[in-house]
Amino acid sequence: MFARAQRKSDNTKYYETLGVPKSASQDELKKAYRKAAIRNHPDKGGDPEKFKELAQAYEVLSDPEKRDIYDKYGEDALKEGIGGGGGGSFHNPFEIFEQFFGGSSFGGGSFGGGSSRGRRQNRGEDVVHSLKVSLEDLYNGTSKKLSLSRNALCQKCKGKGSKSGASGRCYGCQGTGMRTVTRQIGLGMIQQMQHVCAECRGSGEVISNKDKCPQCKGNKVVQEKKVLEVHVEKGMQRGQKIVFAGEADESPDTVTGDIIFVLQHKEHPKFKRKNDDLYVERTLSLTEALCGYQFVLTHLDGRQLLIKSSPSEVVKPGQYKAIDDEGMPHHGRPFMKGRLYIKFNVEFPETGVFSPDQCRALEKILPPSPSNHISDMELDECEETTMYDVNIEEEMRQQRLQRQQEAYDEDEDAAPRVQCVQQ
Ligand SMILES: [Zn+2]
Ligand SMILES: [Zn+2]
Repeated sequence: MFARAQRKSDNTKYYETLGVPKSASQDELKKAYRKAAIRNHPDKGGDPEKFKELAQAYEVLSDPEKRDIYDKYGEDALKEGIGGGGGGSFHNPFEIFEQFFGGSSFGGGSFGGGSSRGRRQNRGEDVVHSLKVSLEDLYNGTSKKLSLSRNALCQKCKGKGSKSGASGRCYGCQGTGMRTVTRQIGLGMIQQMQHVCAECRGSGEVISNKDKCPQCKGNKVVQEKKVLEVHVEKGMQRGQKIVFAGEADESPDTVTGDIIFVLQHKEHPKFKRKNDDLYVERTLSLTEALCGYQFVLTHLDGRQLLIKSSPSEVVKPGQYKAIDDEGMPHHGRPFMKGRLYIKFNVEFPETGVFSPDQCRALEKILPPSPSNHISDMELDECEETTMYDVNIEEEMRQQRLQRQQEAYDEDEDAAPRVQCVQQ
């Protein structure tokens, strides 16, 4: 109940708290609050009660209307008046402090995060999405429209959650958002446990049912669909980040985090990328390797490149060739491009493809064979051998497994047995 009381309650305390005369100007109030609030900030070892008193005094005196009520009727009138909630309707002292200093000026310093006390100017979480793009997308550049839903501050109540713009301090936790339960667990032993206040779900404030904003039902935020256009620039790399600053979930008293897209690229069936260079493999037949080849390579932008050998060129298995400026565009300078490397494999004919007669014919064309230069006498002195085909990789794998097994067995033998020891 608010009666413009006859009795006049104290109306000098706030001035004394800030150490200013009753005639102080707004500028003087600000200066006084700034000095005292920094000196008494709990993060700097100051007294939390004193810090709170300073914030309350400043909150009232910096508002001409409230200051007027205070001067005329004193503290009690003000407590009854604000928000109609019968006292306890002051803002969180940390919030006032952060508002005063613009939030960010102390954000990174010792006044910043860490403490869970009250509602502080926190930074919201970044939201990270991975964005799969093709190598074609990275070569040509592209833009993708993505529809995301996020929490946005309710426009109707400006994120206050209430129709009147007021919110009361939660009685359950005295506005701290946390409740401490103390219980005796033994003679003179006390256990204290802290948990999030159930009444206000940790926000430290409550909005009466009548006063709840109809749009957001007192939640302060509403779900919002948002379409983001992500520009993938030519030459961007896997793992590169595209940042939409301040587009993540909004929440009251919080600096909105970023939405970050991290580029992932799908494997390309033909091209492999290494920095700004591209690699392709091409398997030639033995005839092509010996007598020349030509083929068409479709590039990532659809251009058809004619790849062909020079006259009388012979290609060896595993040989590389390079073409300048047909690699990936360099990010930021897309007119500069890397190289295109081509690795040649040579497919040899299978056993049995050539008849003995064909081999004779080939021998006449191909370089002379050293096999024909062993004399009959030398052959007489040699021992005959038998060879068979092996898969050398499989062979190596088997050998490795066997060695591991042996090492394990030896360990087993050497390790002392675990025994029950009686003392
Ligand atoms: Zn609470
Ligand atoms: Zn609302």
